[in-house]
Parts: sequence; structure tokens; C-alpha cells
Amino acid sequence: MRTHIKFGKILGIEIGIHYSWLIIAVLITLSLGGYFGQSHPEWGDGVIWAMAVGSAVMFFAAIVIHEMSHALVARAYDIPVKSITLFALGGVAQIEKDAETAKTEFWIGIVGPITSAVIGGLCLAAAYLLGWTFGADTSTPLMAVFVWLGYINIALAVFNMVPGFPMDGGRVMRAAIWAFVKDRERATKAASLIGQTIAFGFIIFGIIAFFRGSGIGGLWIAFIGWFLLTSARASYAQSEMTQAFAGLKVRDLMTTECARVDPRTNLQSLVDDNILKAGGRCFLVEENGELLGLVTPADVRSVERTMWPMKTVDDVMRPFEKLHTASPEATIVEALETMGRADVNQLPVLEGGRLVGMISRDRILNYLVARKELDM
Ligand SMILES: [Zn+2]
Repeated sequence: MRTHIKFGKILGIEIGIHYSWLIIAVLITLSLGGYFGQSHPEWGDGVIWAMAVGSAVMFFAAIVIHEMSHALVARAYDIPVKSITLFALGGVAQIEKDAETAKTEFWIGIVGPITSAVIGGLCLAAAYLLGWTFGADTSTPLMAVFVWLGYINIALAVFNMVPGFPMDGGRVMRAAIWAFVKDRERATKAASLIGQTIAFGFIIFGIIAFFRGSGIGGLWIAFIGWFLLTSARASYAQSEMTQAFAGLKVRDLMTTECARVDPRTNLQSLVDDNILKAGGRCFLVEENGELLGLVTPADVRSVERTMWPMKTVDDVMRPFEKLHTASPEATIVEALETMGRADVNQLPVLEGGRLVGMISRDRILNYLVARKELDM
């Protein structure tokens, strides 16, 4: 199931919105309507709701700019960024690989909070130019919108500096530890442990606040803590994985016997004979010893079931020129990154333009399971 809708592209980076964000957008608009309505009922419903919708849209834009700042700094350091997804608790830029140096990591992380703080400062400055003074009440709708945007963006900057993954503060902290211990994996583990401790702090503080009568606010803090905790654990697992694959190359885990099928095989017999009975997940399409492409159950699924006897492998296969491939000398982590980027479960392994094997998520998973059984 798709979990987000595509919104468009800015500077070549896809912007997506997770469904949960739509709910949050509605909640923000409603609570802003309530907030502005309570502080200035004399402005009337029309103005109040226009303010609420306008502020929510600008808040959304500010989050996109925050994420863009991460993406653009990453790109400046030659790290590709495919997309930005906005979800319930903010946004994430899908930065496709880890920074290579602590310095890069530091700048990619810190630029987000700096951007939010600058946006917040500019909004407060705009309110000031409209006649607002710090601590005073707002006298016009536009001023009220700018003041709210100013405070919320500054709050966002502060919140993002919480030193736990996946908050920007987590990245910044990891970069600092990394620069100090000169070892990324150790830095990730240390940062993740600190992140988990802080997350526990949030949960305990939130629960205590809730029982002391803080209401839903306390539960929110506990919820954020829980979110930080799961993320910190995930980043720990990620670094364990990198360690488990340390020194391991695609050549070590690739399969060299690949099932082959003829391009004229119809999909029904491919499913019956090759996928179900023989248990294959991925087939090389070959004719007279020449490799034409690759076909997987996912490709078969794109054709309606009743059409299987009529369509052939040739109709659905992914042609060789379009395949993402791996080199036998690439690391397992690089191969996994390529699979993630291309959204596939296997890669043909090529050496000097010649097919030498296949590397699949299945194989990599088996390796991990075997390691675990051996307590390695
Ligand atoms: Zn950020």
C-alpha cells in the first residue's frame, strides 16, 4: 500500500505527504481557528478561518523549507536526495547514504534547526515591522499570524535539537562524537544509547505530567518519547547491520546458479512451474545464451491473472538496459542501498559487462539468520 501522496517536485526533489500529515494539518487548522477565535473574537469567523488556513499553509511551507535545507546541503556534499516526505511529526528528507565525514554529517544536521530559527526570526521581525512588540498582544490578523509562525518555527528549531535520532540534534550529536572517537559505528552506537536514554526521560516525564493533571500535553510528550525510542533502536540496529556486513562483498553472498527462462514462456507456466513448484523468485530471461532481462513475481503481478496464459515473459520482463546492477567488489551495504534506491529485491551482478551472479535480499537475510543462530 502506498502510504503517501506525491505533491510535486522542487529543485528536482520529490515532495510527498504521508497520510498522517493530512490529519495533523486538519488538527492544526482547527486548533489555530480555536486559538485565534479565542484571543480575538471581534475579528469575525471569516477572518479567523482565513488566518487559520493561511497559517497552516505557511507552517507547511516552513517545514518543506527546513527539509529542503537538509537536502541541499547533502547534495552540496555529493549525497543524492530523492525525496522529502512530510508526516505527522514533521518531515524527513530521504538522504540516500550516510555522510562520509563527521563534518558533512554535522552540517547536514545543523542546517535544519538553523533554517527554522531563521524563518522564525524573520516572521517575528515582520510582526515587529507591523507594530508588534515582544510580549504585547497582537492588534491585526496579519501580525497575529506572523507572531504565531515566529514562535512555532523557533519551537521547531529547539525541538529538532533534541539529541536523539531521527531528530537533527541526534545527527549533530553523532557528528560530534564521531569527530571525537574517529569511528562512525561507535559514534552511532553511543548517540543511539544517549538518544534512548533521553527518549525514556521524555516518556517518564510525560507520564508523570499526565498523572499530575497536565492532560493531553503530557501524553504527547510520552508519545514523542516513544517515537524517539523506536527510532533510536532502529538506528542502533542499522549500525549493527553495517557491522555484521563489515568487509563482506557482493561476491561473497551472490548466487551463481540463476534460474533461466525463455522469453516466449507464458506467464501461467512461469507461475505454475518456475515460481510455485520450483520456488524461484527471480529469473534471468535468456535467448540463445544472450541475456535479455529479468522477471520476478512482482512483474507478473502487474498483469491481471486471467491474462496470464495469453501474456509472455517478454511482455513483463525488465529489459537488461534498465536494470540496476551491482559489482562483485561492492560491499553488501552498498548493494542494499542500491536495492533500496531502485525499490527491488535483487540485483544482477556484472563484472566487465558480463553476468556473474545475482545478489538478493533473501540471501542477505539468510546470512544474518545464520549468524544469529551461530551467536556471532
Ligand atoms: Zn531537520
